[in-house]
Amino acid sequence: MEKGQIRVQTENIFPIIKKFLYSEHDIFLRELISNAVDASQKIKTLSSIGEAKGELGDLRIDVSLDKENKTLTIADHGVGMTAEEVDKYLNQVAFSGAEEFLNKYKDASIIGHFGLGFYSAFMVSDKVDVYTKSFKDEPSTFWSCDGSPSYEIGETEKQERGTKIVLHINSDSEEFLDADKIRGILEKFCKFLPIPIFFEDKQI
Ligand code: ADP
Ligand code: MG
Repeated sequence: MEKGQIRVQTENIFPIIKKFLYSEHDIFLRELISNAVDASQKIKTLSSIGEAKGELGDLRIDVSLDKENKTLTIADHGVGMTAEEVDKYLNQVAFSGAEEFLNKYKDASIIGHFGLGFYSAFMVSDKVDVYTKSFKDEPSTFWSCDGSPSYEIGETEKQERGTKIVLHINSDSEEFLDADKIRGILEKFCKFLPIPIFFEDKQI
């Protein structure tokens, strides 16, 4: 007898995510908003203990739609990420996300009860662009991934501290380009958060 280990190719994780979480697609927005809230809470803390200098500014989180370009954008004024952090957190999300998914998937009852974090953006997107500027005095970073394991990373012009995530909504997910749909999800999941959430300039 021989023992072996099933090898998982990250290339294949997107179809799996899409299939198993099909009925739970709404969660991507909750995940991205909760990351934005976390980042905003972090800057508050760092500022209060004097680790982050300068103005805290308005910490509101803005969600907006661009129907023409088929994008949904989530922008925060939180801690932001340095290029190194983008590499550490986003490029390895694919790995930890996939691993975590498969570990949990062993228990089928758990499907639909967990979040995939940042990675869940790919349930509804062909491509995800991230523009981010850390509170640390470092250049802003642009990261883009089309759901394949390859990504692009480079410097960008972003002046304001924080993170802007642009989802290029895929053709199966065009319902998420509908303003009422997005407002509905935000009202359901994103009320009573410690940071104000705005959709198209109106507070949720
Ligand atoms: P988790 O939130 O459970 O840590 P995620 O996959 O949601 O996992 O996010 C991975 C990491 O990416 C976060 O821990 C954080 O360091 C970073 N990140 C994601 N979104 C943001 C954001 N809007 N601002 C700053 N950092 C972020
Ligand atoms: Mg998260």
